[in-house]
Amino acid sequence: MAFVTRFAPSPTGPLHLGHAFSAILAHDMARAAGGRFLLRMEDTDLDRCRPEYDALIQEDLAWLGLTWDGAIHRQSEHIAWYNTRLEVLEDKGLLYPCSCSRADIRAALSAPQEGVAFAVYPGTCRGRGMASRLPGDALRLDLAAALAFLAAEPPPAGRLPSHAWERVGEGGPPDIPRLAFVETGPAHAGRHILDSARALRQIGDVVLSRKGEDIVAYFLASAFDDADQGVTHVIRGEDLYDFTPVQVILQHLLGLPTPIYHHHRLIRDDQGKRLAKRDDARAIAKYRAEGATPADIRRMVGLPVP
Ligand SMILES: [Zn+2]
Repeated sequence: MAFVTRFAPSPTGPLHLGHAFSAILAHDMARAAGGRFLLRMEDTDLDRCRPEYDALIQEDLAWLGLTWDGAIHRQSEHIAWYNTRLEVLEDKGLLYPCSCSRADIRAALSAPQEGVAFAVYPGTCRGRGMASRLPGDALRLDLAAALAFLAAEPPPAGRLPSHAWERVGEGGPPDIPRLAFVETGPAHAGRHILDSARALRQIGDVVLSRKGEDIVAYFLASAFDDADQGVTHVIRGEDLYDFTPVQVILQHLLGLPTPIYHHHRLIRDDQGKRLAKRDDARAIAKYRAEGATPADIRRMVGLPVP
């Protein structure tokens, strides 16, 4: 089986130990499988991304001894493409404009961070028609409508036996057997069918785009890029596990394949807190400057030294 994975940092700061762990793990898994290791820059947040961090990330990865296959995929170069994917969702009636506060929307646009409570959008603007969209409005996915759309849509012919397709009672959203993913990470290994009610309760109507700023939200861009780059295995931090249902739902709405997911442990500081981008004390560049070797970094994050 082909094995294609990627490391997908945002060039908004230096790589720290947590990024190094994720990159080395993905790289080593790809190489062990005789597969491909790709590099993607998630650089759609034009306010915060900097070319100097893009260059520093490449430098750090090369210093760690990691080589990536093919050209770097920069999300900022694919904005028009993402927007055509948004139109597919709009045509299905699954988007609505939202003018709720900027801080709220910004929180939803970047990859969710552990320790920052993910506020499920209360649905204030749900029901607004697309015609009411104002400049600067965000576009949100109407998750309940998306699940209803997928529940009503017959499964692709020949992919599932008919008995796998069943509606589950009245009163709550049905679970849809084909909305599933395989996880190989240590904490959740196995096959998971999405829990629709839980997705509505814990994730809600995520932001997919904000007009006028060429910002495409993490969820849409990463779902689309994984397919576009032929990624078969998504290897990423445990903090994103709870959001995997959004990816799977978007994949089905857009006709994209669902890769295998592997959520890995997070690297924590001495207080047990997850390392953050601002945690420059653990920047790879700083360790490099202090004379550490790539083998030292591997040992610090608990990975074998080849
Ligand atoms: Zn709103």
